[in-house]
Amino acid sequence: MSDNLYDLFRSRFPDDRSRPFLETEAGRVYSYADLEAVSGRYARLLSAIGVRKGDRVAVQVEKSPEAIFLYLACLRAGAVYLPLNTAYTRHELEYFVSDAEPSAIVCRPGQEGVFSAGSAHVLSLGQDGEGSLPDRSASFDPDFPTVPTSSSDLAAILYTSGTTGRSKGAMLSHDNLASNALTLHSYWGWQPDDVLLHALPIFHAHGLFVATNCVLLNGSSMLFMPKFDVEQVFRLLPRATVFMGVPTFYARLLADERLNRDTTRQMRLFISGSAPLLAETHREFESRTGHAILERYGMTETVMLTSNPLDGDRIPGTVGYPLPGVEVRVTDPETGRVLGQGEIGGIEVKGPNVFSGYWRMPEKTAAEFRPDGFFITGDVGKIDERGYVHIVGRAKDLVICGGYNVYPKEVETVVDAIDGVGESAVVGVPHPDFGEAVVAVVLRRPAGPEVTEAGVIAVCKEQLANYKVPKRVFFMDELPRNAMGKVQKNLLRDQHTGLFAAVQPGR
Ligand code: ATP
Ligand code: MG
Repeated sequence: MSDNLYDLFRSRFPDDRSRPFLETEAGRVYSYADLEAVSGRYARLLSAIGVRKGDRVAVQVEKSPEAIFLYLACLRAGAVYLPLNTAYTRHELEYFVSDAEPSAIVCRPGQEGVFSAGSAHVLSLGQDGEGSLPDRSASFDPDFPTVPTSSSDLAAILYTSGTTGRSKGAMLSHDNLASNALTLHSYWGWQPDDVLLHALPIFHAHGLFVATNCVLLNGSSMLFMPKFDVEQVFRLLPRATVFMGVPTFYARLLADERLNRDTTRQMRLFISGSAPLLAETHREFESRTGHAILERYGMTETVMLTSNPLDGDRIPGTVGYPLPGVEVRVTDPETGRVLGQGEIGGIEVKGPNVFSGYWRMPEKTAAEFRPDGFFITGDVGKIDERGYVHIVGRAKDLVICGGYNVYPKEVETVVDAIDGVGESAVVGVPHPDFGEAVVAVVLRRPAGPEVTEAGVIAVCKEQLANYKVPKRVFFMDELPRNAMGKVQKNLLRDQHTGLFAAVQPGR
């Protein structure tokens, strides 16, 4: 029997295939029959140009129904789906293409030249004037026979967000994605009539393997926004029951006075992930709408690890419980010893959702797995007495000041609570005396009371040990963020690297 993820989805499609699967922002509706037919046509086309099981198919197109059809076509053809952010420059694309060596590339119209140097077949959307792929096989084939795959065959390679360095290709199997989707589907209690308002990008695990896969497995429908836009959210929200976002989406919704109990009345679930949700955002959202945001935690390599419960306390500042079947532990980063309740250390994970390794990086892969199969996530956190996981930050963002560990989040929590502060990011900057010194970058809250460097330092001195107190505080209008809304601390560190260069050691 084939373990192809497409077969699993298909077994959950509604019997009545005329039911809607996806509605675009402009109101065009695609049914499950369309999904089967077009993905079948594309699967046939991929086979016709020679794509075989295990071959990579890179897809760099705008967020569109076509991108979803291509994703399913790849699964059906046994190919490995490799979505690429349309924001990538030519230079970045060269890295991905030479690394992944796709046998076919699907791009936007007019972009063929970007990919012409390699040996891949290059196809562009829109050659037929309809925004879809040309039908070279001239056969419209909803019944394209799914290429049988085993559970460990790769379904996708997804590059990580590159927040801490160069993106790595995470190899995800049919089984990784199936087990994750099945778990999420039951954990979040998907209902047959749920409608997802889909505002996330789909070149990333959150929008593709969390959001889209849940809908496919549920056989229900989604309202598909090309990108997050506050106006469109308020227009479409009355027809949705589930919304998934990154914390910046929630901050933007909160900034709009239309957010209230009435405009969110029929919603069942608001979910947040991909970056830490400020406890303040969580509380404010709940008091304005009556909905407690359900925060979850995941990463490209594992899709999802933990989630706050559907029924039960959704605790601000935590990412909830490990999902059923997923083991999460915290270890001492130096010795690997498993730590107890409340102790802070490296978060490690094991389960059917965990990827098989980084594409063509056997050494990096070996270094990130423990001998007993746990994956070292690179995140630092703890598990509390109730079993809730808390993320304190990333191992790479840990600041070591004069030999003492400073977890940026602890300092950020103190700074964020100052009246007039919108958000802060704390980084370690080289210091000739302490090794590293804490520096805070602060975003003022619009129309909030005046905040000054001296004021921030004074509050920190009251609440934090001296080595944790920022040596300097800078104010910015915006924090640098990547496409998933994650603060790029490496850029902040680089900006301030020379800050203490003139300091004499010992002073
Ligand atoms: P790279 O690995 O290339 O540096 P990245 O880790 O940002 O980039 P992703 O796989 O997109 O790439 O992101 C996963 C990371 O996002 C997690 O390891 C974690 O640090 C962070 N993250 C995800 N969800 C949450 C959350 N709810 N709270 C805090 N951090 C989160
Ligand atoms: Mg990562």
